Amino acid sequence: MKPIHMVDLKQQYLHIKEEIDAAVAGVLDSALFIGGPQVNEFANKLAKYLGVKHVIPCANGTDALQIAMMALDLQPGDEVITPSFTYVATTEVIALLKLKPVFVEVDTKTFCIDPGAIKKAITPKTKAIVPVHLYGQSCQMEEIMAIANEHNLYVIEDNAQSIGSDFTFKNGTTKKTGSIGNISCTSFFPSKNLGCYGDGGAICTNDDALADKLKMIANHGQKKRYYHEIVGCNSRLDALQAAILNIKLPLLDGYIEARRKAADFYDNAFKENDKITTPFRSDYSKHVFHQYTLILENVESPESFRDGLQAFLAENNIPSMIYYPVPAHKQNMFAKFGGADYDLEKTDWLTHRVISLPMHTELDEEQLNYITKKVLEYVNK
Ligand SMILES: *Cc1c(COP(=O)(O)O)cnc(C)c1O
Repeated sequence: MKPIHMVDLKQQYLHIKEEIDAAVAGVLDSALFIGGPQVNEFANKLAKYLGVKHVIPCANGTDALQIAMMALDLQPGDEVITPSFTYVATTEVIALLKLKPVFVEVDTKTFCIDPGAIKKAITPKTKAIVPVHLYGQSCQMEEIMAIANEHNLYVIEDNAQSIGSDFTFKNGTTKKTGSIGNISCTSFFPSKNLGCYGDGGAICTNDDALADKLKMIANHGQKKRYYHEIVGCNSRLDALQAAILNIKLPLLDGYIEARRKAADFYDNAFKENDKITTPFRSDYSKHVFHQYTLILENVESPESFRDGLQAFLAENNIPSMIYYPVPAHKQNMFAKFGGADYDLEKTDWLTHRVISLPMHTELDEEQLNYITKKVLEYVNK
């Protein structure tokens, strides 16, 4: 059996080595490392794939979120509603820009922000909502957009984990995640569903004026070289990463199918087990399984049960991860934002019970058989 990894970037690369090596060699040959035709080509291709008007490539997903929030002219103290159950980048940039993160609950079934909780958290200072499409499934975007419209709030989708997923509205229209809010942000970190071989990110919008501004902010606030209109930053996707992404973007749908197939295998193996809740698949979104995350239920002490499971899997050379062991409202980083005052029962409940199993495009049946057998061996003992 091949060794099992959380993500197997090496095997994935080996399947496309020739094209990738040629693309990288092409960039080296041209010596156009910054900007260059690959970056524009990628922006155009991604815009087409997502069904969005503008894609502004940038240096990473965290920058994408920061630049998005900078473009909305929010004022210090303005409130931004976000889930506590997310990767730190989402909440960190809010604080970095001297805005106030307001943490709300997620739905324990979907792991995504709960629209009802958003409604309750709105105050006169609320300016934006940042829904995070966590683990590969879309948030309830129809309800979120309705709330945003009613209260005149911006929506910034954090699409770092769910590129390629979609949302189907009640009228039957389907849109890709990242094409629904005012702005969306994504990451091409190597382990993401569309990963490059270093850092990369992108900001998307359908709004022409916002696109202009996002582009300027990512480029030191200039449109014309050396004429700086607004305060920005320096955030670029480099040509090597763009060349790699141009090879990988056409493969994304196939990669998603491989992930969904692995998820089906897991689902099937665990479906009869009352201690394991497999990922919920909503009827309004296609799950692209950035992570395959189980909830451990009906066990007396979930955290020690989970520690035991992780240790047992590790002894058997199966990696596993906890995404995420500490929710935002419990991070020291947010102590001065009143983190300790939050009472987010559902978020805490999930934090103690989630465990993510290996999930990537290269998992084969032998590996999946072995992983599920070992998980069940521990859980049933
Ligand atoms: C990965 C990730 C980011 C940040 O992306 P980077 O490219 O690592 O900066 C933001 N939000 C979520 C939910 C992520 O998973």
